[in-house]
Amino acid sequence: MDKPRLLIVEDDDHLRRSLVRSLRPWYVIDEASDGKDASERLTSKRFDVVLSDINLPQVSGVDLLRLVRDCDLDVPVILMTGQPSLDTAIEAIDLGAFTYLKKPFEQGALERALGRASKLGRLARMKREALASFGDRAALSGDRAGLAASFQRALDSLWVAFQPILDGQTQKTIGFEALLRCKEPSMPTPTAVIEAAERLGRVHDLGRQVRECAASSFTPTDPNVLLFVNVHAAELDDQELYSPNAPLVKLASNVVLEVTERAALDDVADTRRRARKLRNLGYRIAVDDLGAGYAGLTTFANLEPEVVKLDMSLVRNIQDSPVRSRIVEGITDLCRSLSMKVVAEGIETMHEFRQIKELGCDYLQGFLFGMPEPVLINGVER
Ligand code: C2E
Ligand code: MG
Ligand code: MG
Repeated sequence: MDKPRLLIVEDDDHLRRSLVRSLRPWYVIDEASDGKDASERLTSKRFDVVLSDINLPQVSGVDLLRLVRDCDLDVPVILMTGQPSLDTAIEAIDLGAFTYLKKPFEQGALERALGRASKLGRLARMKREALASFGDRAALSGDRAGLAASFQRALDSLWVAFQPILDGQTQKTIGFEALLRCKEPSMPTPTAVIEAAERLGRVHDLGRQVRECAASSFTPTDPNVLLFVNVHAAELDDQELYSPNAPLVKLASNVVLEVTERAALDDVADTRRRARKLRNLGYRIAVDDLGAGYAGLTTFANLEPEVVKLDMSLVRNIQDSPVRSRIVEGITDLCRSLSMKVVAEGIETMHEFRQIKELGCDYLQGFLFGMPEPVLINGVER
């Protein structure tokens, strides 16, 4: 990988020069001493990470973040702050700053924050590239009263199907994804049920029922097998998800909660704290459908997922697409360096399987190995 590009914005000449000196071995560095200079550089060049003083002449930390976002939607911003500006730094984090470092900080802390931020920044850019090339989004139509009735029938007849997920090297089944199903004919796909729940404000009801159903139908013979459960971003606001008495909690150490990146997490307050609470209950977290939606860098920074699931639009006919291959390889390498596991979803053919395996994805899922079924069936081992 090339050296990441870093923009340092600091009005204190002495500090700026010393930062440049200490970071030059690892970064290609631009420096700016005020907001205007920074803005000019941001409009003319792409950076992987911005390191900025929070107290620049005439520019607050929050203004600075807006200024950066006007020019670049992806680049992570690390703020350097003294004690009096701590509140501003916290406000800036809420708005999407990556993190802040309290002055004086250790060189090690600075290098760790920069290393992680620049990788996430590159990942965010690749996701956007993937979306621009392959993403799409379906629309929903229908009348509200009819929808409410159909939705209730869907809830009353809800069940979950299980699709195997295999280890990329051994092709042994390591887990199953629980996928929502129902017997309501007007809602033939899970997406139809979910969109109805969104329109009717019943996402929490749907999620509770899915989790209860997944917990009661998951009866693996091997105790190490994982259960992947989809969680709508809005479910992160449901207190029941965090209840120690919830039905899924007794399986928590085997459960990976998948939060899709198709929906933005912007409406969910305090995502970091929520993710921590889920981990304290024993759950692991995955970002689902990576490359299909643009939820922003904050999804990653806030959830710090253990697992990343590539959207199947990236997998489809990957053997014939150098662009998809390059994106999947890049994402896989970055995820590995961030200690995240990568699942490739939607593998249908041997050609896709071979190419994905060569690109180093950790886990595999798709019709080639196993369909979603009402009972746990191990994937075909190849
Ligand atoms: P997802 O979580 O990305 O799930 C994978 C989807 O890909 C599933 O579709 C699965 O059947 C399908 N799939 C798996 N392998 C292949 C393949 O090789 N080829 C093709 N063409 N498709 C494959 P499904 O079950 O229709 O689910 C669609 C989406 O609905 C899910 O995508 C997920 O975002 C959402 N969903 C499903 N169940 C739940 C749920 O319980 N809760 C929430 N919040 N969302 C759910
Ligand atoms: Mg999923
Ligand atoms: Mg997915």
